[in-house]
Amino acid sequence: MITSQVILKKGREKSVENRHPWIFSGAISRVEGDPADGDVVDVWNHRARFAARGIYNEKSQIRVRLFTWNPNDMIDDELWRRRLRRAVAGRQALIEAQDIDAFRLVHAEADGVPGLIVDQYGTWLVVQFLSMAAERYRTAILDTLVDLVGPQGIYERSDVEAREQEGLVPIAGPVWGEVPPDLIEIIENSHTFLVDVKLGHKTGFYLDQRENRQKITKYVAGKEVLNAFAYTGAFAVYAAHAGARRIINVDTSEVALQLAERNMRRNGFGEREDVFAVANVFEILRAYQEAQWKFDVVVLDPPKFAQRKGHVDKAARGYKDINLLAMNLIKRGGILITFSCSGAVSRELFQKILFGASVDASRTVQIIEPLSQGADHPILLTYPESEYLKGFVCRVW
Ligand code: SAH
Repeated sequence: MITSQVILKKGREKSVENRHPWIFSGAISRVEGDPADGDVVDVWNHRARFAARGIYNEKSQIRVRLFTWNPNDMIDDELWRRRLRRAVAGRQALIEAQDIDAFRLVHAEADGVPGLIVDQYGTWLVVQFLSMAAERYRTAILDTLVDLVGPQGIYERSDVEAREQEGLVPIAGPVWGEVPPDLIEIIENSHTFLVDVKLGHKTGFYLDQRENRQKITKYVAGKEVLNAFAYTGAFAVYAAHAGARRIINVDTSEVALQLAERNMRRNGFGEREDVFAVANVFEILRAYQEAQWKFDVVVLDPPKFAQRKGHVDKAARGYKDINLLAMNLIKRGGILITFSCSGAVSRELFQKILFGASVDASRTVQIIEPLSQGADHPILLTYPESEYLKGFVCRVW
């Protein structure tokens, strides 16, 4: 029985009709009944017609997360099970076709399960419950994952700020089965990587860049590569394998760079002249510019500069700054591989930022290959924010 209704303001129905999965507090005219956080509510348009069904959370700016637009669909354990089964089935072919044992199994809103992320690393699963909705169905979700995947253990990494915005306490730790080792070894396109699922970024590894790491290999043979924001050296391993002459890895995290060195050694690239520099990319790019040091290839894979819509202007300045600096460091005809993983920065905006940087740098810049997130991170058409990772391979003259 659904006893509560959320009634939309007149003129604010479009996004719900277009099946966007979020309803912000500002779109709501009133709430009937007294739903507790995590309860199922029906969403009505201003004429009291059913529009959608979702899960309510008074503490979040995203007041309702929508799960269905069909009045006959209930939100219960069974719905979560169906959605999780669908997510796993949708990745089967992708996984079988590649030499990989680590991938995103469940991609939140884009897989119809708002706020739930599940990444698989070998025999282990790492989960993030990022919404009150996901939190409420925790037991059913974990049971279903055990049934579907049969993992050795499930580890939780819900230690993120997004949880606080939902009124939830950030937490991390083992939630089912055995506790994973401190470093899990994974295989990605015949390379191996050590992944720290307990303390690493996100769930431990940037799985979303897998296909891009493969794509950039064609630009690096014999080249000197600046791998800025290197983390645990995933781009570096691919580049070394593809014959890059020397790779300069830069990251502020010493721990990440130590793991990068180990990953390079593990893949047989321990005896090279590569550099692992603990430094701020903004500063080191300026220092290289002053020293007039030029590179054949620069990879820029910064963290999310815009955490939300309100941060877009500041983020845009940051993206412009590093890209302008990077363009200036590239030899004529060299390559810039540049990314933004901010959901709030659209691909169009990112391209515009690069345009501004190229004009200010007085360099002629051609996009030669657009890049996106891997196929295990689907983009839901009704939720354009799910296209969060965009990148371009550019030739810089
Ligand atoms: N390219 C990596 C992922 C990069 S994630 C991969 O494929 O695995 C972003 C990285 O930027 C993190 O490792 C973080 O430690 C680092 N970082 C954040 N701000 C930085 C800064 N100002 N200078 C250098 N590194 C920074």
